Amino acid sequence: MSETSTTLIHHPYKPPAGFDAIPPGVYKASTIAFPTVAALRGRDWKHKTGYTYGLHGTPTTFTLEERIATLEGGKHCTLVPSGLAAVVLVGMALLKAGDELLIPDNAYGPNKTFAQGELAAWGISHRFYDAMNPADLAAKLGPKTRLVWLEAPGSITLEFPDMPALVAAVKAHKNAHPAGIVTALDNTWGAGLAFNAFDLGLDISVQALTKYPSGGADVLMGSVVTRDEALHHLVHFCHMRVGYGVGGNDAELVLRGLNSMALRYAAQDAATRELAAWLAGRPQIATMLHPALPGSPGHETWKRDCTGAACLMSAVFKPEFGPERVDRFCDSLKLFKLGYSWAGPMSLCAPYDIPALRSTPWPHKGGLVRFSVGLEAVADLQADIAQALEKA
Ligand SMILES: *Cc1c(COP(=O)(O)O)cnc(C)c1O
Repeated sequence: MSETSTTLIHHPYKPPAGFDAIPPGVYKASTIAFPTVAALRGRDWKHKTGYTYGLHGTPTTFTLEERIATLEGGKHCTLVPSGLAAVVLVGMALLKAGDELLIPDNAYGPNKTFAQGELAAWGISHRFYDAMNPADLAAKLGPKTRLVWLEAPGSITLEFPDMPALVAAVKAHKNAHPAGIVTALDNTWGAGLAFNAFDLGLDISVQALTKYPSGGADVLMGSVVTRDEALHHLVHFCHMRVGYGVGGNDAELVLRGLNSMALRYAAQDAATRELAAWLAGRPQIATMLHPALPGSPGHETWKRDCTGAACLMSAVFKPEFGPERVDRFCDSLKLFKLGYSWAGPMSLCAPYDIPALRSTPWPHKGGLVRFSVGLEAVADLQADIAQALEKA
C-alpha cells in the first residue's frame, strides 16, 4: 500500500516549463484548435498522442487516466461520468444482440437493472449466478456468454468471492465464445489498494471514482481500466461514440483526492474493523458481515487475496428485530446519516430488504443495515450506534 500511495503522488506529470507546482493544471475545453486543415484531417482519435475535442480528453483527464491505470496495475484507463456509467460502458462496448452476460446475484443493484432494462430490450440476455459457488458459474456459462461480471465483495451483503476460481471457471469453459469471454470486476471496494485485479486474472476493472478516489462525497465519476490494448480500444471507441466525457473540474477533484486516498482507505478500514468487532458482541446483533471478520462469508479468501478491507460493514439483527425496529434504529442514529454512496468523510447507513434483492436463498430472519464508516472519531461513532441500539 505504501508503494501505491507514493506513486499516486509522484507521477511523471510534466508541468509547463518554469511552473513546477505540485498539482497538475486544470484544462477545460470543448474546441481544441488545429493549426492547419491537414492537421484537422489527420487527427488521431484512437491514441493519446494529441488532442482532438474536449469530450475525448484534455491534459487534465489524460493525467487522471494515467494515475488510475497506475493505481490499478493496468495499462489503459477510460473515464466516464459515474461509476454506473462505467458498468454501462463495458456492456455497450462488448455486447451485441444474441449475446449473454452473467452477473453475480449479490452485485451492485443498478448493474442488474441495466441488464434487465436496456440490455434485455437490445436482445442481450443475462443470468445471475452465485458468486460464492464457482460451480454455479461454470454451469451457467453457455455458447452465447460473452461477458462475466464479478464484484468483490458482494454489494450490501459483503460475501468475498474466490476471484481466481471464478476466472478459472470462465477460462476452462469448453463452449467458449469464439471471440472469448471477457471477465470484468466492479472494483470500487478494493479501489486498486486492497488487491490487484489484473494479477488475479481479471480482464477489466471498473471503479466508481465517486467513492474512494474522490473521497469528498462531492463528485461523480467512473473508470474502466484494462491491460489489454485490443480490449481497451473496444471500450475507448464505444466511449467516443456515446459521448461519455468528463469535465476538468471534476477530474481535478479526483486528482486531489488521490493524494490522500491510501491514508483514508487505511484509516476507514481500521475504524470499520473496530466497530464491526464491537457490534458483533451486541445482544441485538445476530451476525456481522465484514470480510475481515472470521466467520463472515469468504473470510478465508479475503485473507488470502487482500491487504485491506475498506469501510463497509453490514449488521444482521436478531430475528425479533423486524423491519419496524430496524427502521427505528436507523432513524435514531445521529452521526450516521441515512443515504446512498460510501467512502466519504461522513458516516452513512441504510436498511436493506435482502430477500427482495436476490434470487439465491438468504439464511437470516432479522433486518440488515449497511454502514459506511467515515472519518469521524471511532468512539463517537460507537456511542452513536450504542444509543440507537437502545432505542430499537
Ligand atoms: C456506488 C457504486 C457504483 C456506482 O457509482 P456511481 O458513481 O454512484 O454511479 C458502482 N458499483 C459499486 C460497487 C458502487 O458502490
